[in-house]
Amino acid sequence: MASWLEERKRVLETARLLEEKGLVVGTSGNVSLRLKGELLAITPHGRYYDELSPEDIVVIDFEAENVEGELPPSAESLLHIAIYKNRPDVGAVIHAHPPLAGALAVAGKEIPVILDDQAAYLGGEVRLAPYALPGSPRLADSVISYLGERNAVLIANHGIIAVGRDLKRAFTACQLVEKAALAFILASLLGGVKELDPQAKEALLGYFRLLRGVP
Ligand SMILES: [Zn+2]
Repeated sequence: MASWLEERKRVLETARLLEEKGLVVGTSGNVSLRLKGELLAITPHGRYYDELSPEDIVVIDFEAENVEGELPPSAESLLHIAIYKNRPDVGAVIHAHPPLAGALAVAGKEIPVILDDQAAYLGGEVRLAPYALPGSPRLADSVISYLGERNAVLIANHGIIAVGRDLKRAFTACQLVEKAALAFILASLLGGVKELDPQAKEALLGYFRLLRGVP
């Protein structure tokens, strides 16, 4: 009897939702959920999400070895594991390629604190981690350091990482990054980006430090 089927089903549903909402294309992106102990459920490498069943979502340990499921785990497993090791508050990790955040990642732009929900739920600016090859330990190190205690980070010439205490909140973080990217790009075209009022920013960051994301 396969274990963690309910959790694996939720990982698959989240991956399908990413594709439906245009946050990834085809087989790209990956989604994971922290299970008990040093275990996580993660999407398998290079598969179309609509062709997978919950049993195809792999359960791996912190060595990236399969515990449940036959398929090879996502090529970004190291990155997901590194985040769980460094951020005890994180219960779910999403790596996606949203188009507008992708444009910023290509232009080499970080998103300063421009929206109040960005401050309250993402924890401030969305920084730009330098490019490193997908799946490499260098990418994991770079993401960890640029993510810090916040809930999202851009990866240069690649995409984004969004985290949360559960899948729903990590997914919301993903959408918040794309919404902030849209506002940043449009405001730039409209004559300039105005950052959030510093006092409001401090208050909202205080709220974030208390709750670590969407309540
Ligand atoms: Zn990617």
